[in-house]
This record gives sequence, structure tokens and C-alpha cells, in this order.
Amino acid sequence: MIVTNLPAIGRKINKRADRLRFQPLEVFVIHAVTDTYNPEAYLREDWMQTEIFVQTIKRLKRDYTFIPLTEAYGHLKHDWLRRRRYAVLTCDDGFASVQGILPFLESEKVPITLFINPRYLDGKSRREGYAPSVEYLTEAQLAGLTSHLVSIGMHGYEHLDATKQSEEEFGRSVTLCTEMLGKHPRYIPYFAYTWGRNNATTERVLKRMGVVPVLCDGASNYHYRGAISRRLLPEEENK
Ligand SMILES: [Zn+2]
Repeated sequence: MIVTNLPAIGRKINKRADRLRFQPLEVFVIHAVTDTYNPEAYLREDWMQTEIFVQTIKRLKRDYTFIPLTEAYGHLKHDWLRRRRYAVLTCDDGFASVQGILPFLESEKVPITLFINPRYLDGKSRREGYAPSVEYLTEAQLAGLTSHLVSIGMHGYEHLDATKQSEEEFGRSVTLCTEMLGKHPRYIPYFAYTWGRNNATTERVLKRMGVVPVLCDGASNYHYRGAISRRLLPEEENK
């Protein structure tokens, strides 16, 4: 018997049509950015050297116009044709190091969305199993980030795998995020999955709560199809 997977074929056709109509919209993710690497503070895959970061952004600005995540969502949702190439910068985990790159981003007029775990804003709580000497943004520091170039999204109450949580646990985590981050003037109802892990349950919860899901699937965006794709910011060689 030949089983035809019609939804899969439909998705393929949609994807092809998207590529004809739209330039790719890239959403990049970074974690920690510091001058020197401290293995006691960050995992290597979560770290980028400041100068490399600066050169990478300057390089990408030649090809892309950097816009806020909310504006990108509007393009993905409503554009009928898109010839301009847009990019978005996001930063996960709420490491305090992000404060060091904000003046550069301000000078370059590059917006950034920070995906925060509110649990670690108390100045003492630490993510389980992560480097012991890592510094997170504190509540006061986060409250001070009011630039129109900064927006604040959610990354789970704690940095846990959402696919290992029950529907109730994940729902509680998102509710705590909206309660604790929702009062920030730059809050946006977007949720970046930890390690990009999601499933039908997490999707259902975010949909019910009116929150936009943000993945880490290494893909480019063409048109909005239920979530925003992201990939790691590529490391340009510092020549
Ligand atoms: Zn993370």
C-alpha cells in the first residue's frame, strides 16, 4: 500500500513558494560575550570573544538590516513579498556579560532581545549543573535595561528542558515568567525554548497563553509558520 503523506507534501510546497517570495530573515543567538574565556564561568559553546562579536556584527551589517524581533515577526506574518534582508540579534540565558556589549550595539543601532530565566535574577541562584562562577543579570540590572533597542523575552523560570516537564509544570514556568518579566517596560511575549527543545505539549501551552515560540533549529525564516527559527551567530575570523 502506498501511504501518501499529504501534510508533509503540503509543507514542502509551502516552503518552496516561500523561498521564491521572500529573502531569508535570520534570527541569531548569542550567550556570553567577554574579552577573555573563563572556563569556570561559561561552557565554550556558550561563549564568544568580544572583538570577534564586534567584527561579526559589523560584517553582517553589510548584508542585513538589523531589526527588533517584534518587527521581524510582523514581516514574517504579513509580508507578501520581501526583497530586503533582515536580521535579528537575540541573547539567551541572561548572563551579566551582555551589559558589556550594549554600548557597542547602541552605537551600531542594533536591537537585541534578551531571553531571561527570572529564577536567577535574585543575585544568588545558579543554574543546576552549569559553571559555578557564572554571573547572571540581577533584577536591578535588568530593570535598568530600558533602551528602546532592548527587549525582554522568556527562557523558562529556570533553565530546564521543557520537553521533560508536564503540561502543568511548563505552564507554571511560563506563568512565573510572565508575572516576573511582564512588568518590565521592554517585555515582549516571546519564549525561547531552552536548547531549542519543544514538543506538542509546549506548543499547546504557548499557543493557549498567546506567546510566540522561538526555536534554536539552525534554520532561516521566510514566512511565519507557528514559530521563529534561530541559529547561532557565526563567528567571523578576527583579521
Ligand atoms: Zn539557554
